[in-house]
Amino acid sequence: MVYRDEMLPCEKCGKKFIYTVEEQRAQGMMGLEKESPALCPSCRESGELGPGLHPGLVKWFSESKGFGFLVQADGSEVFFHQSGVVGDLQVVEQENAPIWYEVKETDRGLKAYNVHVRE
Ligand SMILES: [Zn+2]
Repeated sequence: MVYRDEMLPCEKCGKKFIYTVEEQRAQGMMGLEKESPALCPSCRESGELGPGLHPGLVKWFSESKGFGFLVQADGSEVFFHQSGVVGDLQVVEQENAPIWYEVKETDRGLKAYNVHVRE
């Protein structure tokens, strides 16, 4: 698989941005099909990944703490609470477990919910 930087227009603000080799590689490592992001990094940072489910990996989750972090396809991390986990908590206790999640903006930053296993 050969990666190269790609120039893409943001669907939200219309600015051109670079879909970097690093991001493409991160997606590859997650076992995902290469999928160009629709939004530029600054629109993505504003929490507007768009509605629906996004693929990610568990970075870590502690049932005793009741929360953890996941890694998004662009390599950034998002907090999630056990109340945002759907189904078996044991699955998300495994590092690098592939998951689906949704995100929302809260007073304390981005938070993932509807976290569940990606099979
Ligand atoms: Zn944008």
